[in-house]
Amino acid sequence: MTPRKKLIVGNWKMNKTAADAVALVREINLDVGKRSDVDVVVCPPFTALEGVAALIEGTVLKLGAQNMHPEASGAFTGEVSAPMLRALFATHVILGHSERRQYFNETDAFINLKVLAALKHQLRPILCVGESLAEREAGTTLKVIQSQTERALEGVSRELGATVIVAYEPIWAIGTGRTATAEQAQEVHSFIRGLLTKLFSEPVAQRIRILYGGSMKPANAAELLSQGDIDGGLIGGASLESRSFADLVRAAAAS
Ligand code: PEP
Repeated sequence: MTPRKKLIVGNWKMNKTAADAVALVREINLDVGKRSDVDVVVCPPFTALEGVAALIEGTVLKLGAQNMHPEASGAFTGEVSAPMLRALFATHVILGHSERRQYFNETDAFINLKVLAALKHQLRPILCVGESLAEREAGTTLKVIQSQTERALEGVSRELGATVIVAYEPIWAIGTGRTATAEQAQEVHSFIRGLLTKLFSEPVAQRIRILYGGSMKPANAAELLSQGDIDGGLIGGASLESRSFADLVRAAAAS
């Protein structure tokens, strides 16, 4: 089995001006910017990408965007494309976040186009999947996860599949302070790895990082990160403050 290096991703959502983002990343850099035992990605708003990119050059931090349009250019007012992100030195992009699915009506088919476009332009997609509370209570969690994962990854080659990152984010745990138990999360992560094995082969599935997201904090990270198929975290609230984010990076290193 290939050992997977842990990965901690900060999703800053619609928070931080460009100046605030630079201040935050400066603090993160001082604290964990030299570590090489964990991969770390920060995803500021589009307006802060350039400023943050300048600061993380030469550190271990990598830059991600929170969304992108599947087309490379054109009449799509308000949108940003993969080549534009690449030109700002982004290497990762969060796709299919539940807030985009919920508030912007993103469908699995549209997310699939974005995944394919990201890969075409050498951006690593961080594909988010997750069930609602109603779906969990109805016992359909694994069915929902299977359909979201398979539809979003349709047409992805085995070779490019190895560069995808998946984030399991139960919607009921995002920003709510309610975390999935380690057992609940591991069950879904191991199920996702099984799906990836079918889609891409066992060796590829063993290389893919599957992150947990949903109220992950320094206090609950160690238990989640010690599970066999939890390879890191996609962090919302706790990524907005350097100390809690750095503590999560340290928790990942220790797990
Ligand atoms: C997220 O939105 O990706 C997330 C995990 O948020 P939080 O950590 O705040 O629950």
